[in-house]
Amino acid sequence: MVISAFDVVKKQIDIVAKEMGLDPNIAKYLKRVERSLIVTIPIRMDNGDLEIFEGYRVHHSTVRGPGKGGLRFSPEVNLDEVKALATWMTWKCSLLNLPLGGAKGGICVDPRKLTRSELERLTRRFTSEIINMIGPDIDIPAPDVNTNAQIMAWIMDTYSMNKGRSIPGVVTGKPIEIGGSIGREQATGMGLYIIFEAMCEKLGLDLKAQKIVIQGFGNVGGTIAQILFEQGCKILAVSDISGGIYYSEGLDIDKLLDWTHEGNYLKDYKDDRYKLIKNEDLLTIECDCLVPAALENQITINNARAIKCKIVLEGANGPVTPEADRILFEKGIHVLPDILANGGGVCVSYFEYVQDIRAYFWSLDRINKELKRIMLEAFEEVYRIAKERNIALRTAAYIIAVSRIARAIELRGFFP
Ligand code: GLU
Repeated sequence: MVISAFDVVKKQIDIVAKEMGLDPNIAKYLKRVERSLIVTIPIRMDNGDLEIFEGYRVHHSTVRGPGKGGLRFSPEVNLDEVKALATWMTWKCSLLNLPLGGAKGGICVDPRKLTRSELERLTRRFTSEIINMIGPDIDIPAPDVNTNAQIMAWIMDTYSMNKGRSIPGVVTGKPIEIGGSIGREQATGMGLYIIFEAMCEKLGLDLKAQKIVIQGFGNVGGTIAQILFEQGCKILAVSDISGGIYYSEGLDIDKLLDWTHEGNYLKDYKDDRYKLIKNEDLLTIECDCLVPAALENQITINNARAIKCKIVLEGANGPVTPEADRILFEKGIHVLPDILANGGGVCVSYFEYVQDIRAYFWSLDRINKELKRIMLEAFEEVYRIAKERNIALRTAAYIIAVSRIARAIELRGFFP
């Protein structure tokens, strides 16, 4: 059964609304997105044929500032998913107390099937189609699943060409040479590490002794794998879309990153000690910390009972459904929720945006210090509320995020 990500969003709002006694009118409003745009993107392929793709951009809430959120290219993208992801961005920005709202976009496409020039035309035409919905004071896209700094550069250029001047603040996650921020590429993985380290401290666990399993080996999964590997943790298993590999003594992450960065799949990596495993079997491997860093709806009512770890560190957005959340909570598994754990990316995106607007760039030291401060402030508050009320960390994070949004809505009132 296909789970609707936006249905998950609505269930999460119901759970937090009940816990915090949220005004039902506000809850009703938060279950809607402010605006969504569906665009048709006709592209001349290299062989002369015309292919037509569908793209989306959604603003869930701009009550606390311009929309912010990634852009993903994947065959699974649809409006329901983009609405869910935009809503999660609202909570994430609010929890970190960034003056930004929640937005998201995507194109239903498998980018691996396109040539570089087709990908560039697709990105530029999509940018042109959504041009009135984005801008430094409207909505600022960023990388997400299967998008990267080069794609952000094409968006920035297309937008700037249309406006007749360079406007780097229209997207974040750009190459450093054209206004990107140092530290942005590693930021989501860095943020995951900061939160994991803080949680280990709370639970009295020795971080270096933790055994880790990671689903996903892209920017987020790859970066957290590398950081934890450098720290001496054993990474028992990792996976990409081709499947997973497992070794009970710990994989050599540096070698695997070299392999995948050359464009290879994990399943083709040759080491006699490593065992090939299916993606779904990876999630139920016994470990200390499981990091779902791929897509949403991975831990569901069907496999939650089989999860055998102490901590789930959500690198992806929405990897655990509300039913699974309840099961994990009952099992005593700590779920470090996406809107907190993977917030490092949008946090450094915010720094990039500020740097672009002021045209003054920070050092890596300053980026990492401010990232740590913002992430730990949010973590401490979430942890405290979860302990005080004996609720899941996600519910605590939602209480903080939704309260700020609700307060902003109350203060601004409803126009007209
Ligand atoms: N796509 C990332 C996320 O889901 C980053 C968003 C951003 O930097 O705006 O948080």
